[in-house]
Amino acid sequence: MHVEPWGRTPIVEHADVKRPAWLRDCADVWGDDMTTLAIGNLRSYGDSCLNDNARIVDMTQCSRFIAFDKERGVIRCEAGVLLSDILNLIVPYNWFLPVTPGTKFVTVGGAVANDIHGKNHHCKGTFGCHVLRFELLRSDGSRTECSPGENAELFAATIGGLGLTGIVLWVEFSLTRIASPFITQTNIRFGNMDDYMLHSRTSDSKYDYVVSWIDCASSGASLGRGIFMGGNFADPLANTLPAVPAPRSIPFPIEAPSWMLNTLSIKAFNMLYYGKQTKPVSHHVVHYEPFFYPLDSILHWNKMYGKNGFFQYQFVVPFDDAASVLRDVLKRTARTGNASFLAVLKNFGAIQSPGMLSFPMEGVTLAMDFKNEGGKTLAFMTELDAIIRSAGGRLYPAKDARMTAEDFQRAYPNWSAFAAFIDPQCSSTFWRRVSRSAMA
Ligand SMILES: Cc1cc2nc3c(=O)[nH]c(=O)nc-3n(C[C@H](O)[C@H](O)[C@H](O)COP(=O)(O)OP(=O)(O)OC[C@H]3O[C@@H](n4cnc5c(N)ncnc54)[C@H](O)[C@@H]3O)c2cc1C
Repeated sequence: MHVEPWGRTPIVEHADVKRPAWLRDCADVWGDDMTTLAIGNLRSYGDSCLNDNARIVDMTQCSRFIAFDKERGVIRCEAGVLLSDILNLIVPYNWFLPVTPGTKFVTVGGAVANDIHGKNHHCKGTFGCHVLRFELLRSDGSRTECSPGENAELFAATIGGLGLTGIVLWVEFSLTRIASPFITQTNIRFGNMDDYMLHSRTSDSKYDYVVSWIDCASSGASLGRGIFMGGNFADPLANTLPAVPAPRSIPFPIEAPSWMLNTLSIKAFNMLYYGKQTKPVSHHVVHYEPFFYPLDSILHWNKMYGKNGFFQYQFVVPFDDAASVLRDVLKRTARTGNASFLAVLKNFGAIQSPGMLSFPMEGVTLAMDFKNEGGKTLAFMTELDAIIRSAGGRLYPAKDARMTAEDFQRAYPNWSAFAAFIDPQCSSTFWRRVSRSAMA
């Protein structure tokens, strides 16, 4: 049985796929020599949601709500509930997710296991910062409730723990109050990387949600030009709000031929997108869906890269060296013609993540997509690794399919302490790769 991660590479065979319908059925998934990995909605790009030649436990059928306290804004649900279903339930009561990634089609279990971040890291930290408690099933049959004050070490290992500490059965977390489902959005055009660095950190403090798009095909004086997008939930007393748009999503129509996305078409897209922002600054009131989830309106957009798939390369580097690192990465990207269709830049703030292996650290994070062209693409990313390594940065496991054991172990120094919390029957393709002896 093969299972595709979002980047469609690697595609590996699994010996067994279990799909428990009820939480109580999860107790039956263990029991032989095969290792096991719980998975959510496979929105991770690489091999952190794969367990080649072994077992995966698809948790998406365990998708029931358990409790919703509308006064305090606290929700408890099974781990397979999608963030999209939570939004449908809570937004009419003026609550929102405390932290959300760029797609609403991830499960709560996946949000915990990758300790996901969103556009508000500078003020709210990661998803794990808002988790009040969860229940973890281990292969010895034990069910343990964990919170920051109860079984705190297992709590810290499981938040960002890549599914390796056991199966998360349900999660309770706190929500954020909103005044309306609309966002007052400000777009600011920046002409190059220096411009971004100059304005982004002061602009961040004005907005609860911030993200920038970069034209990574630009070069010369325009290297790193892009559009900064800041937003706050709109107060209906201070803004005229439009009608709520009808939900709309279209499937990506075909398996794209591999020539469709090439340097020229990506360059043209980037020029058009940058050109759409005709004014240096513009203000809009928009529904939260296009602001947070612009790509979700095209279902299965990952087919756009053709059958060989693509890699997402997301790194974070400390602020000190960020400008020169970003310039170097973007220069090489433009020069080699590996231009990314979408490149997203965000600043991470100082709020400490609760997870032992959480990805965010204070600094700048850039995510770029590269079509999988085999050895050429791998060699290019290896070149980028050296830059990130020497700047003291790291790559995001949720997006990764190829970082070396050396780089993982250097960038995540807690990894060996974390290993003590791994369930003896849990493993993943990612973990076997990055936990190899770095000297081997
Ligand atoms: C378009 C797009 C935009 C994205 N934007 C962001 C972003 O802005 N920020 C960000 O942080 N991430 C982002 N991501 C990545 C995504 O949020 C994470 O990969 C997320 O973990 C995927 O959740 P999932 O439910 O699909 O889980 P999967 O991808 O299936 O699994 C992810 C991990 O969770 C573990 N897991 C899942 N369920 C359980 C469970 N019940 N018990 C134990 N372990 C479990 C798996 O073992 C695996 O390690 C984006 C992904 C896409 C496709």
